[in-house]
Amino acid sequence: MAVLLAGGAGFIGTHTAVEFLNAGYDVVIADNLYNSKSAAVRRVEEITGRSVAFYEIDVCDKDALRKLFSEQSIEAVVHFAGMKAVGESVAKPLQYYSNNLGTTIALLTVMKEFGCRCIVFSSSATVYGKSNPVPLFETMPRGECTNPYGWTKWMNEQIIMDACTADPELSGVLLRYFNPIGAHESGRIGEDPQGIPNNIFPFITQVAVGRRPQLTIFGDDYDTPDGTGIRDYIHVVDLAKGHVAAVPYAKKHPGAKVINIGTGKGTSVFEMVNTFERVNGVKIPYVIGERRPGDLPESYANADEAEKLLGWHAEKTLEDMCRDGYRWQTLNPMGYGG
Ligand code: NAD
Ligand code: UDP
Repeated sequence: MAVLLAGGAGFIGTHTAVEFLNAGYDVVIADNLYNSKSAAVRRVEEITGRSVAFYEIDVCDKDALRKLFSEQSIEAVVHFAGMKAVGESVAKPLQYYSNNLGTTIALLTVMKEFGCRCIVFSSSATVYGKSNPVPLFETMPRGECTNPYGWTKWMNEQIIMDACTADPELSGVLLRYFNPIGAHESGRIGEDPQGIPNNIFPFITQVAVGRRPQLTIFGDDYDTPDGTGIRDYIHVVDLAKGHVAAVPYAKKHPGAKVINIGTGKGTSVFEMVNTFERVNGVKIPYVIGERRPGDLPESYANADEAEKLLGWHAEKTLEDMCRDGYRWQTLNPMGYGG
């Protein structure tokens, strides 16, 4: 029996593949390499000394999924396959709705045909919207999203919840990720964004290796202790382990369950920059810019549910995240292309 990682060649998927392989699972990856490289899958094999069955397919393509399910014995699906650039989703909403909802519908359809009853989905803290106070609890109402990417997470959650209501044997674990950063400690796999990074951490690592001259901090006049935005950064290896904990939980508990995956601790932009500089002994030049439209002052999780249901909590520190992320960028200054 194997787990299928849909979109598993990407940043979070490759780290999750390593943790499933280390835990003794067989791993099958389906990815169309829209935002990833096949080299990343080879590096997963190199890190673990195990082989991965790789299908270069569009996960919206039900016939391609049927072929995969007929060749492999899939006990659970972890669904990462989606486009994730917030700004691009505003410019290309139809592509985002079509791809991000299409992958979910195709997976659920083919899973049912093949009797696979377990899906773990990559959701996001963005579904909490703007009105909930921090820390964010799973019981809080979902809010209004500010962009099509966020709505695809919201709608995918709804699709999986409705599918679980209609089919009492189906289980769906909706993992609401906070801010995944860092890299595997080997420095062989990590985040490799195309073009200018949207997120702060890969921007910082690219400044650190001289690929970009400086960081722009989006506002220092928020109502936070140092005026900069606060987020719940989580090491990608901790996040990966959360998926390994979610699969046996899902197999025992039919129905839909929402679980935050964060550390429960907020970190400001200044704290992040200072920690990165201290741990790695590098300077991150920065300027203060305008606030980025749509940004919240603060977002961090209450992470108790993950501990209670999955026996999982984050173990790595902000220092680990900074050290491991910098090691990846130093060893691979141009990502997988370099
Ligand atoms: P990523 O872009 O590195 O990985 C996503 C993978 O899905 C890529 O390899 C891409 O090629 C693949 N993919 C996209 N559409 C596909 C399709 N139709 N068929 C086959 N493969 C397809 O992104 P990531 O950072 O690893 O994120 C993984 C998931 O987690 C995504 O769904 C993302 O929205 C979600 N998420 C990410 C973050 C974050 O900050 N990275 C936060 C919250 C949620
Ligand atoms: N941020 C910043 N400069 C950047 C990118 C982000 O100052 O180049 C800030 C942003 O305003 C937010 C925090 O860093 O307060 C995290 O932003 P990111 O895009 O990584 O995550 P998200 O806002 O999606 O949670």
